Amino acid sequence: MRFFDAFRRTVRCHGGETALVAEDGRTFTYAELDDRSTRLANALTARLGDGRCAVLGGNSPAAIETMVTGHKRGAATAQLPFRGEAEEFVRMCESVDATGFVFDDDNRETAEEVLARRDFEAAIHVGDADVDAAGVESYEEVLAEAPPTLDGAPPADGECSIFFTSGTTSRPKAVPFDGEQLWYGAIQGVMEHGIDRTDAGIVATPWYHMVSSDAWIYPHFLAGATVVLHSDFDPAGLLEQVEKLEATGLLAVPTQLNAVVDAQQSLECDTSSLEYVRTGGSVVSERLVERMSEHVTDRVYNTYGMTEAGPNLTFSLPEDQHERPGTVGKEAHTYEIRVVEPVPVTEHPDPEATVDAGEEGEIIARSPGCSDGYIDNPEAEAKSYFEDPASGEDGKWLRTRDVARIDEEGYLYIVDRVDNMFVSGGENVYPVEVEQALESHAAVSEAYVFGVDDDHWGRVVNAVVVTEGGSVTGEELDEFCRERTDLANYKRPREYTIRTEELPRTSTGKIKRGAITDQTSE
Ligand code: ATP
Ligand code: MG
Repeated sequence: MRFFDAFRRTVRCHGGETALVAEDGRTFTYAELDDRSTRLANALTARLGDGRCAVLGGNSPAAIETMVTGHKRGAATAQLPFRGEAEEFVRMCESVDATGFVFDDDNRETAEEVLARRDFEAAIHVGDADVDAAGVESYEEVLAEAPPTLDGAPPADGECSIFFTSGTTSRPKAVPFDGEQLWYGAIQGVMEHGIDRTDAGIVATPWYHMVSSDAWIYPHFLAGATVVLHSDFDPAGLLEQVEKLEATGLLAVPTQLNAVVDAQQSLECDTSSLEYVRTGGSVVSERLVERMSEHVTDRVYNTYGMTEAGPNLTFSLPEDQHERPGTVGKEAHTYEIRVVEPVPVTEHPDPEATVDAGEEGEIIARSPGCSDGYIDNPEAEAKSYFEDPASGEDGKWLRTRDVARIDEEGYLYIVDRVDNMFVSGGENVYPVEVEQALESHAAVSEAYVFGVDDDHWGRVVNAVVVTEGGSVTGEELDEFCRERTDLANYKRPREYTIRTEELPRTSTGKIKRGAITDQTSE
């Protein structure tokens, strides 16, 4: 089964239902989405053959239509992370060899810079404004002139989408997926959340990210449900959308949810239609779940995954968040995960060497929904994917480079990324664990922990703490850490930098670690 086939079923069964609601209130039925994406697919194929098309745009209907064309053409749509710089986009387009380029008006200036540096066989602008580049066509005109029916089904194993990883540990990596791989991620979402055609799910995270697409938009499309697009994150606007459209679901990263809770305290919007909120991508703290329960909904799913996995490896039910705070749950449907003895990045872990309950190890995963590799990055690919020596052809394992523990009942707890770990006095320190401890202090909104060279211990723990109005001191935090029995002495920060400015984060809410370390000498 491919997403293409599942989408066709939805169009047959639910053609008159609303597929998309844009932030400006425009709505599109499944029949309209199907018609528009078919026309665009035909137009792109006429211009590019089976060449790939990159798209630069916000959470808009045109971006979603372009995304769907990848499935109809069997030639990938490369989903560019729109918050980047022109130079980065040129590099991304080069690395995936994109010959088509679709962009919206909000990104026009950046797109003009891209067009000045790279030639495309077709460039299409979504909007009325004049574009300062030759040969750019208007999106609506292209659609109007294109044939409305597909010339046969796309190739069975054609590549449909290219996603970029968040770029937290290195430059974003380009991950290609075919329609079957994407179907697995999508059906998983339908099963885990029980989505049906009466649902309306808001996507507050950028559409181009794997989670937004394959774990949210696609499952809603499979079920014939409505996807509500929230484009430029604004917590008040998002809450108003929930109330006005009686949204049943919301996808947002933890930092966005924190802002939503802050806004909700004064707005008091009616969020009773929400059956659940799905979050993940970085640590979901106990305090966030408590605050969400008090002000928005107590039904928060903490899901763990990664772009390469397509995307979710584990799911935890909202109940789990209350009974076992911090867990990311158990294996997601159609995925197998193991926590194995960690080995250096230059070696591959032994899939049989699973650690005992409570021990730390690296998560590895496999599924027909996982990707097979990266585009134009053999070095990273050799580190991330490996064949199982025992089962050979049963599919590759994917290394997550995330450290976790599994408890006696099989619930998974993410500790940190392998690469964040440092050694202090011979002991492993995982910064995220210390950050979580600090963030449980009522005056701390964010924390960033890192290692600093030390003659005696090798490295010692330092922390940058964000507090509103400078209402906490390093001495108070030190006292707080000393009182926590679960925080061993070697994990206790030796120095604190207190600040009121928020930490720099990626568009998926992850702390940009390198960027902060550079600022700490302030
Ligand atoms: P890059 O691979 O380019 O360095 P990235 O790993 O941040 O960037 P993504 O694929 O967006 O790119 O993120 C996957 C990572 O996010 C996981 O490997 C894990 O470290 C983290 N993560 C995802 N979900 C959770 C969660 N629920 N709790 C804690 N961490 C999470
Ligand atoms: Mg990664």
